[in-house]
Amino acid sequence: MATFSPDYTLRLQRLLEVCRNLTPNLDFEPLLKSLIEIASELTSSESSSILGYDEEAHFLRVLAAPFYLMEKLGNVAIPLDRSVAGMAFTTGKPIILHHSDKDERILRIVDQDIPEKSTSVLAVPMIFKGKAIGVMECRNKFNDAHYTDEDVDILETLTAQAAVAIQYRHLLEEAQRSYEKALELDRMKSDFLAITSHELRTPLGLVIGHISLLKETATPEQLEHLKIIQNSANRLAEITAELADETSMKRGFMNLRRRRVGVQLLIQQVIDTLQELAVERNIAISSEAPRKEISVEGDSEKISVALSNLVKNALIFTNEGGKVKVKWEEVPGYVKISILDNGIGIPKEELPKIFQRFYQVEKHLTRKHGGMGLGLAIAKEMVELHGGRISVESVEGKGSRFMVFLPLNADQQKAAERVFIT
Ligand code: ADP
Repeated sequence: MATFSPDYTLRLQRLLEVCRNLTPNLDFEPLLKSLIEIASELTSSESSSILGYDEEAHFLRVLAAPFYLMEKLGNVAIPLDRSVAGMAFTTGKPIILHHSDKDERILRIVDQDIPEKSTSVLAVPMIFKGKAIGVMECRNKFNDAHYTDEDVDILETLTAQAAVAIQYRHLLEEAQRSYEKALELDRMKSDFLAITSHELRTPLGLVIGHISLLKETATPEQLEHLKIIQNSANRLAEITAELADETSMKRGFMNLRRRRVGVQLLIQQVIDTLQELAVERNIAISSEAPRKEISVEGDSEKISVALSNLVKNALIFTNEGGKVKVKWEEVPGYVKISILDNGIGIPKEELPKIFQRFYQVEKHLTRKHGGMGLGLAIAKEMVELHGGRISVESVEGKGSRFMVFLPLNADQQKAAERVFIT
């Protein structure tokens, strides 16, 4: 049966207490610092340190040590083949040295650089998911005593904590790097879209202008062809406008030109401009106004863009013979505008994604409908610029209901910035 030293139980109790209190919320450096202090205390050592493996350089580097050692060793690359820590790291096993000042395995360059010489060393590899990621080391056990298996057990428990902290830090750094890369790619994409949409606008304007001129003198047969060209050119103009909206939104270039606008008039104008599409798709579009006229303080152009995108989607994603309805009512501080359709609906798992830029439920290459997957993202942004909110309920095969909440006035909008209505 194993025999333990008289104070081992006390040390284990202290270890337990310390591990319990080592909060995972501690920042990286303070956590490592606490671990080396505890390691020195529990193994009766003059000092302790934590070394991490640098995968690119294939060296160990000191991550935590008492300040006087850190100053000397902070930038030293500790080779794996000429150091005790390196040996513990490569063998994956704890190493105990006594009278280590005479031991060949002590890295002299390290020893030369520090005031106290090593008389004894305990090095324990830090293992995470079966892989060594660093080493924890204690030096100079007091009273020239030998490090024991009990010290190894204690240090192994502490290295497990250090390993988790180091891995956690690596993951955070990796996530940060990926995030920065994604931001950079997103910025490049926005720049590309901004330049492209800007460059396309002028020639497209000329094409549309010349079609109008040609229509004046065209024969009936030519007129048919010109209409097709005009529709396509208009569609292209819509796409470039969407792209321009998307990029200026992204760059924070959107300003609100606020005026008091009647909701009924606004909705009627939206329906009027989409009437042709409704007739073409044989869909009955109707509106239901409340008894009392409601007005909002907002940018009518931007609200119109948002509502047009929603009504247009309702018309596009509803089968022929279907119905689309727009109704609105006042709710405390807001006007709630609902756009209802009895169309194809949206699968439940897609609902959280449809407001993302360039997202389309049907894959782009196989889908029947045009569009860039920007309509809802733009609608959302325009509504949120007003301090409003947009939401959706939908049942596949039955239809959808998009709801827009717009603050009635600018004061309400400020209040909405603090607390959002549900
Ligand atoms: P797009 O202009 O390409 O349609 P949107 O951002 O407007 O892009 O819409 C994103 C996706 O959400 C659409 O591709 C469609 O799949 C789905 N969607 C939007 N509105 C409706 C609706 N009323 N009914 C069913 N699906 C809809």
